[in-house]
Amino acid sequence: MESLENFAYQKLSALDRKSLKRSLQETSRLPKSRVIRNGKELISFSCNDYLGLSQHPRIIEAIQKAVTIHGTGGGASRLVTGNYPLYNDLEKRLAELKGTEDACVFGSGYLANLGIIPSLVGEKDLILIDELSHSCMFSGTVLSKSKVLFFHHNDVGHLEALLKKNRDKHPRALILTDGVFSMDGDLAPIPELSSLSLRYDTWLMTDDAHGIGVVGKGRGSSFAFNSVSKVPLQMGTLSKAVGSYGGYLCASKSVIDLIKTRARTLIYSTSLAPANIVASIEALKIIESNPELIQKPLDHAKSFSKALGLKNPSSAIVPLILEDTERTLEASKILEDSGYLVTAIRPPTVPKGTSRLRFTFSATHSKKDVSSLANIVNKKIIGV
Ligand SMILES: *Cc1c(COP(=O)(O)O)cnc(C)c1O
Repeated sequence: MESLENFAYQKLSALDRKSLKRSLQETSRLPKSRVIRNGKELISFSCNDYLGLSQHPRIIEAIQKAVTIHGTGGGASRLVTGNYPLYNDLEKRLAELKGTEDACVFGSGYLANLGIIPSLVGEKDLILIDELSHSCMFSGTVLSKSKVLFFHHNDVGHLEALLKKNRDKHPRALILTDGVFSMDGDLAPIPELSSLSLRYDTWLMTDDAHGIGVVGKGRGSSFAFNSVSKVPLQMGTLSKAVGSYGGYLCASKSVIDLIKTRARTLIYSTSLAPANIVASIEALKIIESNPELIQKPLDHAKSFSKALGLKNPSSAIVPLILEDTERTLEASKILEDSGYLVTAIRPPTVPKGTSRLRFTFSATHSKKDVSSLANIVNKKIIGV
């Protein structure tokens, strides 16, 4: 097995030389966006737990009860015996929140994208995808074997040019985009994408992992504009603002019935643990009934951006692009030494030359957490 050892060693050394080797850091998460790393308590601006619901006392209590009643695991795929009754409650709530007829819950957001995309388009079809879309959407396009064209980030004109030239050559076509872009925090131009998709008989699918619970009064990116946009395929995750685990698609009844019949990552993967489903249900109840809570992450992002003279954010994600990978790692280290956890984001997660600090804001941050972070960033990173 010497060749295997050599391969792993050489590959890692090459990545290390470019500051692109990654390693897992042991991190304990506490309430109020606090974490413990290397024995030190830090305020985290890197969790996607936008509402703090992964630490919510009412949800924790509900899970403890649920485990006593339902046990710890799903036991089989949903198509076999894993479809316990809690799923129906969760899917109804998701569909209602997103304004669709039905919904389907998957094991994770990643699994959802891997399952949905190849169920809808195949070898003869066309996929048009925003170049900054999340990695798991790309993985789904590869599995579909469709022809894949990338359009420039949020560039509706470029997308239309591609549609004009290519739409006719394929029986079915799909537009894929993040609703809220995970590394930039900006929104897709959903109203324009929606009307374009209708004109070219192309199906629009948004990945709203960072939208649910944060934008559009918690309903996500389709609801973040003046008029509600028609998005027939609204995908997302239960692992970020919802504070649990799992992925979902909200769509019409017939699309969901097709997905439940065809999506391989649903059929051939075990159902979620009941505790995950209960946590998601309880979290959605909180999201539906707490408009002030939902407003907080965005308010924090806005006051932080204002303090640093950055552009007004439209979500809870604020990037500070430092370009150089080493400089970004250094900046992250400076913040850690000052008591803040802000992970450096490097290629291939973001394009080359756009390494950045990515700040995420949570309802559990205090105003003081945010203003003191802004001061430190101003003094020790931007000001040098
Ligand atoms: C996190 C994320 C996913 C993956 O969701 P998981 O449930 O964590 O697998 C998908 N899309 C986007 C845009 C994400 O940020």
